[in-house]
Amino acid sequence: MGKFIDLRSDTVTTPTPEMRRAMADAEVGDDVYGEDPTVNRLQELAAEKVGKEAALFVTSGTQGNQCAVMTHTQRGDEIILEAESHIFYYEVGGVALLSGAQARTIKGTRGALDPKDVMAAIRDDDLHHPRTSLVCLENTHNRAGGAVIRPEQMKAVYDLAKSHGLNVHLDGARIFNAATALGRPVTDLTRNCDSVMFCLSKGLSAPVGSILAGSREFIDRARKNRKVMGGGMRQSGVIAAAGLIALEKMVDRLAEDHANAQVLAKGLAAMPGIALDPSTVETNIIYFDLTHPDLDGMSLPAALKKEGILVNPSHGRRLRMVTHKDVSRKDADAALVVISRVMKA
Ligand SMILES: *Cc1c(COP(=O)(O)O)cnc(C)c1O
Repeated sequence: MGKFIDLRSDTVTTPTPEMRRAMADAEVGDDVYGEDPTVNRLQELAAEKVGKEAALFVTSGTQGNQCAVMTHTQRGDEIILEAESHIFYYEVGGVALLSGAQARTIKGTRGALDPKDVMAAIRDDDLHHPRTSLVCLENTHNRAGGAVIRPEQMKAVYDLAKSHGLNVHLDGARIFNAATALGRPVTDLTRNCDSVMFCLSKGLSAPVGSILAGSREFIDRARKNRKVMGGGMRQSGVIAAAGLIALEKMVDRLAEDHANAQVLAKGLAAMPGIALDPSTVETNIIYFDLTHPDLDGMSLPAALKKEGILVNPSHGRRLRMVTHKDVSRKDADAALVVISRVMKA
């Protein structure tokens, strides 16, 4: 896809040359025996970065989230989630399928849960009720347009959850984007949860892998659940090596992606036929609505593809663009020129 400007997702990022070299040279062992030194180093560094006792290298964000839900719940439990959260919306019903848990969804405001709504959703011990055991948060919130949940908002939900004996899992697939946008240490965002998942792929550009972090006791139980999900990998140091570079070298450049998203958002907002408030774009994800009389969520991406720009089609009139390391400032400017031309044609 070399010649395309690919705005579909930050999942399309390719590993850097430094990652390729580190992967080729990685020292490895059998990780199911706990003997892969590169995986062990990655897990230690990841735990330290997010301020947790221990971490587990998982195959994907989905596996990390599902493994967390399975570790925090018993079958028949109810878990509280934001209505548009990734765990509820995009993980193939895994909460029911893998953990036998039931989802209770709450509509948030720009992805943030109101503690009053969480409070109202927590079950009492009536004979008829399932047990509420977990609250899941998401930061940045994907379907809310890469919205950043503030540390104070997270703390309010966490304190409430703890006062009711519930655990909190943070789907922090893009938690480093959130920290970058706030200009605060990532630990300000990972303090108010019992477990956190974040992706080494996506903006951090590793080819494969995510991290699940929490207390040592939690991670020991999660490792068993990862095994049953087929995530017990062997010489996975080959991919963990890229994850180490993702954590050490790729976090600081996320600000560039946010700046390029602003360039795109401001340019798009100025075009007739597009409804977008650039102030709603806080990180690297841009959602906008098409008001153009002749173009919709299917036809605009199709027209752009012919001009070398990739955007995921949508059955509605809402489209998403995502910036990442393989979209430069020049690409953002070039994309705007093409989009403007296509919208006028
Ligand atoms: C991408 C994403 C995930 C899942 O990650 P995969 O590695 O694609 O399984 C989970 N949560 C959020 C918010 C995401 O954006």
